[in-house]
Amino acid sequence: MYDYLVVGSGFFGSVFAQQARENGKSVMMIERRPHIGGNCYSYEYEDTGISIHKYGSHIFHCSDDETWNYVNRFTRFNRHQHRVLTTHKGKVFSMPINLGTINSFFGTNLRPDEVAAFLDTQRTFTGKPANLEEQAISLIGQPLYEAFIRGYTRKQWGCDPRDLPASIITRLPVRQSYHDAYFNDRYQGIPIDGYTPIFERMLQGVDIELNVDFFADREIWEKKARKVVYTGPIDRYFDYCHGHLNWRSVRFELEKIDSSDYQGVSVMNYADEDTPYTRIHEPKHFHLERSWNKNTTVIVKEFSFIDPDQPYYPVNFASDRAMYEKYAALQTERPDVIFGGRLARYKYYDMHQVIAGALAVARKELSGTQ
Ligand SMILES: Cc1cc2nc3c(=O)[nH]c(=O)nc-3n(C[C@H](O)[C@H](O)[C@H](O)COP(=O)(O)OP(=O)(O)OC[C@H]3O[C@@H](n4cnc5c(N)ncnc54)[C@H](O)[C@@H]3O)c2cc1C
Repeated sequence: MYDYLVVGSGFFGSVFAQQARENGKSVMMIERRPHIGGNCYSYEYEDTGISIHKYGSHIFHCSDDETWNYVNRFTRFNRHQHRVLTTHKGKVFSMPINLGTINSFFGTNLRPDEVAAFLDTQRTFTGKPANLEEQAISLIGQPLYEAFIRGYTRKQWGCDPRDLPASIITRLPVRQSYHDAYFNDRYQGIPIDGYTPIFERMLQGVDIELNVDFFADREIWEKKARKVVYTGPIDRYFDYCHGHLNWRSVRFELEKIDSSDYQGVSVMNYADEDTPYTRIHEPKHFHLERSWNKNTTVIVKEFSFIDPDQPYYPVNFASDRAMYEKYAALQTERPDVIFGGRLARYKYYDMHQVIAGALAVARKELSGTQ
């Protein structure tokens, strides 16, 4: 019998498994997909030298030394500093909205200390925002909202911004300077040989079975270990007894193109509703340190839609939060199971947050069992 059965090979399951092995525990891992790495899985595309992040572009960033030092045990990072552009009505602007975006959009030449007063003249909503549309207009005014937020949000969330909570927009701050780096963290980069080798190194000494769904033989798997670490969807674990949690999904269309550079940047957003995709990724721009095949690039169009079997972003309606709380109460009745990661916690986490969370859980668990 193993000490732990880990269900799911994403960062939560893999970090826990690595820590358990390092503390002399035996670990079995099962993964329903044909590969390890969860949503961070990457692969090399044919002979192009281009690394594809299969489930969407992943940029590692964090400010916390413990997480950074830990992940650097398993990879080196390049010096990629993430920047995002957006196309609106055929013109390219800088994201998140900053002084450059504002000056370019309005044809102005404002200085930083003039931005607040200028935006005041744009605001047509000044009450307490009750939804995303009101929140956005109160922050940036109607014209910027209509250009950069409304269409993109309708595509991304598949609903009217007036039906979404005001809190979502805090993830898109308005900057009063030309600072256009996407993240402000102390550490940032892309693993030089992609994400998958990180997991291969972490999971040395772990017995892994791919293409295995825990629920196909749940009782058999549960008997294989003293404790289960479950990183799959929480509603599925409890047989949807309180209902299905809502998720948004994304679909990717990959295209190989005979050109050395398609768009000049790793991620280009498309703000307008009449463009069906939300963004185009061009992964070669994540690895400026690599020598590419000069006449080839790969682009990946991202479409947002609903597919309950492919959970990507928790929708987090008030009804979802209430439902999750009921599932969280059931979790506390199962001390024989560790629940962790984005699917089991029904929460959007960045990679560093999942790693830090798994390290903390492992520390507590393994110090208690030694
Ligand atoms: C489009 C997109 C872009 C992102 N970009 C970034 C970024 O730039 N930077 C960043 O820091 N973070 C980013 N993230 C977040 C990042 O993907 C997550 O933080 C990370 O993948 C979470 O790891 P996890 O282990 O919790 O979940 P996952 O990676 O989803 O791993 C869970 C695993 O469990 C498996 N599983 C589920 N159910 C079962 C079952 N019944 N039996 C067996 N196996 C099962 C799944 O197949 C999966 O492999 C992004 C997320 C998305 C959706």
